[in-house]
Amino acid sequence: MKIKRFAKKPEDIHQRIGANPVVCYPNDSINDNLEILHEARKHLVKTDEIIIPPRDAKTFKVKSHNFFRIESVEGPQVGDLNIFQADNLDEKFYSGKTRALYGTHISVGDKMYSSFPYLRSLATISWDTLDWYGYDKDGGSVHDVIGTRCDPYTSKLISGNDYHFCCHSNITRALVREKGLNKDDVEKIVHDVLNVFMLTGFTNDTKQYFMKSSPVRPGDFLEFFAETDLLGVLSACPGGDCGSEHSSDAAKCYPLKVSIWDVDKKFLEGIKVSQISSYNRDHGLTD
Ligand SMILES: [Zn+2]
Repeated sequence: MKIKRFAKKPEDIHQRIGANPVVCYPNDSINDNLEILHEARKHLVKTDEIIIPPRDAKTFKVKSHNFFRIESVEGPQVGDLNIFQADNLDEKFYSGKTRALYGTHISVGDKMYSSFPYLRSLATISWDTLDWYGYDKDGGSVHDVIGTRCDPYTSKLISGNDYHFCCHSNITRALVREKGLNKDDVEKIVHDVLNVFMLTGFTNDTKQYFMKSSPVRPGDFLEFFAETDLLGVLSACPGGDCGSEHSSDAAKCYPLKVSIWDVDKKFLEGIKVSQISSYNRDHGLTD
């Protein structure tokens, strides 16, 4: 919030401001496999379905080269998604680098990159029934990688209350109860999410994170292609459609559905999945 301006303007201010922006990470060289994925998705066969109760989270597994969908059922509801490599929970979704590569909100053809030192695409978004929304007049859009996840620590900081059903806690509970992991270990691997269906942006004046009622309706879904074996954890956010508040029991909340889909491998012929980074990790330490 750079609105206070304590410092005096320099005399050469016009030479220092106004340069044209340069995209930091051009992504044109990354193969999105979209042609193959759009053909393959015509032949999907559902193999499993998981219902996520409101204000709670559940884990789900997706095999490499399968698809999964997150679907709105019953009413508008936002979901907070964590993704891990199924056999190595140290490799997890890296929302910051995904944002640096694709922008504030992601959709069809964008990839969900994993943390260092892996930095590979865990999943590619293959379909999005809300991609008609684009960006609205306030710069808002759906499926952001700019928020973090609602959590009890920030809630305590701002309101002074203890609330136990934020997405951070819901994801923590799911990993403890369903995977038998230790709470303290789990809290270190719960990570910043993809905010599925959430409508967000930054305000024009102060650039603060804002939210609006999600345009998602029952039947809408976001679909992913798994590029490695995945463990997903999805929380049905206590903010519901996130049109008023979160981190409380005030909002009307609905379940979310996760479905897993297989496809005959002949339809994926020629696909190039992302590999773990081949950087040699020397970091300039070798003389
Ligand atoms: Zn949340």
